[in-house]
Amino acid sequence: MNITTLSRKNVQELTPYQSARRLGGNGDIWLNANEYAISPDFQLSKTGFNRYPDPQPQEVIEGYANYLGVSAENVLVSRGGDESIELLIRAFCEQDEKVLICPPTYGMYEVSARTNGIDVVYVPTLADFQLDLKNIEQSLAQDSKIKVIFVCNPNNPTGTLLNRADLLELLEFTRNRAIVVVDEAYMDFSSENTITNELAKFPHLAVIRTLSKAFALAGLRCGFTIANPELIGILQKVIAPYPLPTVVADIASQALQANNVAEVKQRIEQLNLAREQLAKELIELDFVKRVEPSFGNFLLFECEDGMKVFNALWEQGIILRNQHTAHNLANCIRISIGTDEENSKVINALKAIK
Ligand SMILES: *Cc1c(COP(=O)(O)O)cnc(C)c1O
Repeated sequence: MNITTLSRKNVQELTPYQSARRLGGNGDIWLNANEYAISPDFQLSKTGFNRYPDPQPQEVIEGYANYLGVSAENVLVSRGGDESIELLIRAFCEQDEKVLICPPTYGMYEVSARTNGIDVVYVPTLADFQLDLKNIEQSLAQDSKIKVIFVCNPNNPTGTLLNRADLLELLEFTRNRAIVVVDEAYMDFSSENTITNELAKFPHLAVIRTLSKAFALAGLRCGFTIANPELIGILQKVIAPYPLPTVVADIASQALQANNVAEVKQRIEQLNLAREQLAKELIELDFVKRVEPSFGNFLLFECEDGMKVFNALWEQGIILRNQHTAHNLANCIRISIGTDEENSKVINALKAIK
């Protein structure tokens, strides 16, 4: 008896997620996972690890609500934004229902759907990576099984900021029909563009946020779902009893205190400047055909021969994220913004490519 054959059919067909870390390489410059280059310095302040943690620690919930300017009842904390994706699928999709995604986009929507045996409908973005609203509306009209729509704003891996008018239109025609998830993992880098200030109008809107990107705490595994209380209440039913370890809550609540938030905001400004500098230097290289405007902590650029460029840097221990197989992204590479030193090492390595 082979136990693999005992596992669920959809699980037999899965391959483990190719996380940036798993893709490995012998790098010393890691610019493939949109992490912050330097670790912030936090110390544990709590004791009492014998007790189960608070399922939704008040300091973390209130800290994040304050940071966003929403109320505490709009916030659910989870094991990273990735757990939010999973919760939304589990809470809203029946076994025969589907999610809709707009490639090229973040890989975890599809991974989470498939892991739960949920089918995926693709409505690729337009040539400028904006939403194809007509096609999304048509898909919804033709396929009553579509239940959750994932859009990513700013989009990973393109960096695109979605048109606000498009998002509002999407939210109008999906009313009473489907859940719209707006993944704002990178919205801290242009926070004025958040959709969270429209929450009151849209009971079917769920926004995903995280401490992994702008807060430089990817190792913490702490993310949020922002929605109206009814939707938050539904997710509460499917979330694990103690999603946030005591130590995570401890550090997350420190990270959300005013003094640290002020530091985060300064780092965001510096990072945005560094990104624009790097974009300028990339576009000056003669084999770089295009650098997408980015609103995140990364850039997407297109090369004449993306594979060659990716491999040349890999050989030198500079690990970027190849997007070659992503929809519409042939010869494209995604690079996280590193320290000034890392960024200039990358540029020098690129200049040396013959
Ligand atoms: C990084 C990321 C997330 C969530 O990351 P967590 O580390 O799980 O919080 C969600 N969506 C996108 C688009 C991301 O890039």
